Amino acid sequence: MDHIYITQAVIEHFKCVLCDKHVFVSPITTKDDRSFKCGRCVCIKSDHPIQVHALEKLASYFKFPCCFEGCDETIPWGNVIEHERLCNYRVINCPSGHCKDRYSINKIVTHFDQKHKNYISSANQYRLNNSFGAHLRMFFYNQEPYLMIFYENKVRIYIGVYSVNAKGDNVPFQVQFNASSTNKSLIFRSNVVLFNDQEHCLNCLHHICNNNYHKYSSVDRNCDIKKNMPFVIDKTYLTMTLDSEIVCYIVKIMGEMKDRDQTFVKNLECPVCQCLMSGSIFSCRVGHAICEDCSDRLKACPLCAEPLTNMRCFALEGIAESLRLLCINKEKGCEFVGNVDQCKNHEKTCAAAKR
Ligand SMILES: [Zn+2]
Ligand SMILES: [Zn+2]
Ligand SMILES: [Zn+2]
Ligand SMILES: [Zn+2]
Ligand SMILES: [Zn+2]
Ligand SMILES: [Zn+2]
Ligand SMILES: [Zn+2]
Ligand SMILES: [Zn+2]
Repeated sequence: MDHIYITQAVIEHFKCVLCDKHVFVSPITTKDDRSFKCGRCVCIKSDHPIQVHALEKLASYFKFPCCFEGCDETIPWGNVIEHERLCNYRVINCPSGHCKDRYSINKIVTHFDQKHKNYISSANQYRLNNSFGAHLRMFFYNQEPYLMIFYENKVRIYIGVYSVNAKGDNVPFQVQFNASSTNKSLIFRSNVVLFNDQEHCLNCLHHICNNNYHKYSSVDRNCDIKKNMPFVIDKTYLTMTLDSEIVCYIVKIMGEMKDRDQTFVKNLECPVCQCLMSGSIFSCRVGHAICEDCSDRLKACPLCAEPLTNMRCFALEGIAESLRLLCINKEKGCEFVGNVDQCKNHEKTCAAAKR
């Protein structure tokens, strides 16, 4: 049977006593058949012991208007929670931690521009500082806004990157730790998660949150919010591996996967040996790039005959390092993805090559 649409007028009669949204999220419970509590509020203690199965059965034939202003979607019974989690008009509590404002998620950039400009970060570079606390930053990648939460205590550092819009969801982000005194660095990857103010909350991280709807608020501390952060690393491991107490880190979103034959990738080919350049990339006096091996072997640039120099092409090196390439044996079924170096290493032993 097709779903039946339900009007706003009917919805008005079925509001949850706790959250004031329509009640059509299972389990719908009541104490007197007059006041109802919705399934969104199931974790909040209240005196509504009886599940209203008849109403739920009836509701399963209906579609409901989205409760957020500006959204014209109608959502079938059973999908309401998921829609409200992803809705581009969802109303959030300001994630800055101290601000009490509530606004539609699509206003978040404007709000930060006006009230939390110091949270908007361009370089996204930080220093491990042995302090205790959780912080929030907003940054942009391809004009899409992202939120980053980082939490540091004496032992570990936790990092989460969250996309404001659903289309920025699920891309990888990279954390690169650098120690300038020893020139060592470490790189890690994790995935971006769609931002949800009820799960990604600075106050919850500090265990000072009293918002009943937050998954990790002080009311329900059964699940530990830190365990749920996308990236965690031990600080002792970091400082030992990098041989330095002074460690900086850069957080960035990784680009989309690139196919080998794209002209963009062609720019990384060494003009001499045609390998994809990675690691140290050198240039001639004019600026032609050349791979390290070839630069060791040659005296003059093969393209312009000018002398080769010790000058590095840091921009190209950065691209080679952050590029996400598909394995050269993709057609044979290999699904490996990595930067130029990782692909080179992988392809030496790629099982699909023999197929
Ligand atoms: Zn409710
Ligand atoms: Zn919606
Ligand atoms: Zn705010
Ligand atoms: Zn909270
Ligand atoms: Zn070369
Ligand atoms: Zn040249
Ligand atoms: Zn420079
Ligand atoms: Zn492969």
